[in-house]
Amino acid sequence: MSKRDYYEVLGASKDASQQELKKAYRRLAMKYHPDRNPDDQEALAKFKEAKEAYEVLSDEQKRAAYDQFGHAGVEGQAGAGAGGFGGGGFGDIFGDIFGDIFGGGGGGRRGPARGADLRYTLELSLEQAVRGCEEKIRIPTWDSCEVCDGSGAKEGSQPVTCNTCGGLGQVRMQQGFFTVQQACPTCKGEGRVIKDPCTNCGGQGRVQNTKTLSVKIPAGVDTGDRIRLAGEGEAGMHGAPAGDLYVQVAVREHDIFQRDGANLYCEVPISFVDATLGGELDVPTLNGKVKLKVPPETQTGKLFRLRGKGVTPVRGGGPGDLLCKVVIETPVKLSGEQKDLLRQFQDSLESGGNRHNPRKSSWFEGVKRFFDAK
Ligand SMILES: [Zn+2]
Ligand SMILES: [Zn+2]
Repeated sequence: MSKRDYYEVLGASKDASQQELKKAYRRLAMKYHPDRNPDDQEALAKFKEAKEAYEVLSDEQKRAAYDQFGHAGVEGQAGAGAGGFGGGGFGDIFGDIFGDIFGGGGGGRRGPARGADLRYTLELSLEQAVRGCEEKIRIPTWDSCEVCDGSGAKEGSQPVTCNTCGGLGQVRMQQGFFTVQQACPTCKGEGRVIKDPCTNCGGQGRVQNTKTLSVKIPAGVDTGDRIRLAGEGEAGMHGAPAGDLYVQVAVREHDIFQRDGANLYCEVPISFVDATLGGELDVPTLNGKVKLKVPPETQTGKLFRLRGKGVTPVRGGGPGDLLCKVVIETPVKLSGEQKDLLRQFQDSLESGGNRHNPRKSSWFEGVKRFFDAK
């Protein structure tokens, strides 16, 4: 169905001021308001048409887009922000009257509330996060009541249209010059009341429960990543859609590895003999041990990079690296004989002059220069 020109709908000229547009809309809204035209589909259509036209033209940005591109320029926008009349002043009191009931786009009264979103923090080991896994989680939740099928009404009965508001979910109150529309106190805005509540859920249409869910964790997730399970949150009231469940990943600290994005770090202790003579070390990776060749005269703190032994991130990209830092361990609990051997060894080092400890020698020279300069 092709839409009528918005200016034509409001009966306003292209260069109408905002004041004129508001006036034109107000006149139409009063005339076609569903309260005044109960069960009149044609009036309802006219009311919605005027409301849509006014929503676009009352927003300078949308109006400019509409003037330039026509309906295509504001496609999908009209109605989306409906109800956004808020604020103060006369125009906004007017807005409250209509904006509220017909908020949310599409017209008609407000439906029952959608269920709340839930968040669940899932602790994973580093291995689980890196490889991916399937975890069973138990979450407290509200489920739609099976006895009344979510309606909240006792078996054999149905919720009935609210007498107070006639099903609109809103009541009108006189306040000074203005008639103000408010959520109906009897039905809380739902337009329907339950005379005979379901005994299982007490008329809520939902019952508290725990459920077990199986969550598939993709490989490569990290702390802070969220997995959304649509519709697994709380059930809505009276058959409204359920919320979503967000599973928030928290990776536990690992004994050996620290993760930084795609890379893994670990420290590998090495004896001073291996560091001096060189050798092969067994280095852990998440997929078992690998051999790392340490060249002779390796100093403590040296980083060795094992390409591709890190993590493949969940958002794509190649695997990161494993960075191994070798740390020379000072031997402890030496026997007298071992200490003697070390002293002999030390003597032999010193007879070699500065050759064996170049860093230590240059450090001492630096210190000496420092004091001599004073
Ligand atoms: Zn029930
Ligand atoms: Zn009501």
